[in-house]
Amino acid sequence: MIKNYMVFLKTSGLSPYVWAILCILPFYFIFQSDATNQYKMIGIIVTLLFLSLFRFAYKTTGWMRYVWTFVLMGCFTYMTILFGYIYFAFFLAYLAGNIKKKADFVAIYVLLLVSTGISIYLGILLHQAFFLKQMPFVIITWLSITLLPFTIRNRKVLGHLEEKLDDANKKIAELLVVEERERIARDLHDTLGQKLSLIGLKSDLARRLINKNPEQAASELIDVQQTARTALNEVRKLVSSMRGIRLKDEIDLVETMLDAANIQFSLDEKQKLNDVSLLTENILSMCLKESVTNIVKHSGATKCQVSFEQNWKEIIMTICDNGVFKELKTSFDRGHGLIGMRERLEFVNGSLEIAVNDGTCLIIKVPNETKQSVKEGQA
Ligand code: ATP
Ligand code: MG
Repeated sequence: MIKNYMVFLKTSGLSPYVWAILCILPFYFIFQSDATNQYKMIGIIVTLLFLSLFRFAYKTTGWMRYVWTFVLMGCFTYMTILFGYIYFAFFLAYLAGNIKKKADFVAIYVLLLVSTGISIYLGILLHQAFFLKQMPFVIITWLSITLLPFTIRNRKVLGHLEEKLDDANKKIAELLVVEERERIARDLHDTLGQKLSLIGLKSDLARRLINKNPEQAASELIDVQQTARTALNEVRKLVSSMRGIRLKDEIDLVETMLDAANIQFSLDEKQKLNDVSLLTENILSMCLKESVTNIVKHSGATKCQVSFEQNWKEIIMTICDNGVFKELKTSFDRGHGLIGMRERLEFVNGSLEIAVNDGTCLIIKVPNETKQSVKEGQA
């Protein structure tokens, strides 16, 4: 209920106070008119009918919507003829703006313009003095009902797009969780699984050899010990990779790596990154690590500069070196690093660009909006 009300406020283009006034105003027009009591009674009934039928017209679809709209337009014209009240046009404009199908929207919009035109014309004919006094409001009403349906329609379209974007972000977060689970399962199977079966086989062999060939048994037990150590190390690595690396820690690590390779490192921290999700940080960290490893391995550079920029739309990380990049065209076929980076970035709608000039610059862009989705994914 509250959600519907908020959507109504968001999409109506008019404040709720204006709607309240538009509901009360017809009664004022009825009571201040010099029509007979009988007509005033009819006016009240027509107004109540209009307000209750408006709900039906808003909810129904198909040809029934046309029926209700015609009835509403009848009430509207009737109120203009009797009491010079033309402001029901706003309700009809709201109705038109909320029609999804383009053909229906155009048809009802045209009907609205025609019925408002006729009502204003009849109003001027029948209540000339009264209408002339109200002329500025009449003109404003005419202009508003011409534009209001489009404004409402555009807002609705935008609202739907935002909803779709939210859904897509939620799905990405869910997919990431599934992918991460699969990766962990794969890693556990490939590392721990194999090592544990090896430990099982070797200890069984050692048990059988212990009396026959104690030396061989001792060597098998050493292997068991070694395999257990390796397995422990792999589990540690797995756990640390599951924790994810913070960008700050990765920057410290690459600084150490570059220092060891005698490459001068500079970090452009003009702008500190704010409100970055863990997912974005992990992806940026992974890209930073791979880019710097490539600089050390392939570039022959003496300098490396890393900079960050954040705006409402995206986060841009630029990693430049003053080395040499050979054969840019085939670079993605020569290893897994660049491809891995591109795939991860594409997964979150990011991008990777390589600019080779006096050295190499990797421009990495990720959307600045993943925080929400990751939170949801982690929940
Ligand atoms: P892997 O990353 O799989 O261990 P790799 O580093 O060779 O192997 P990529 O990271 O995909 O693979 O890089 C592909 C190629 O692009 C590299 O072999 C290298 O020739 C070139 N390259 C990448 N980064 C740079 C750089 N900063 N400067 C010069 N050459 C680069
Ligand atoms: Mg590489």
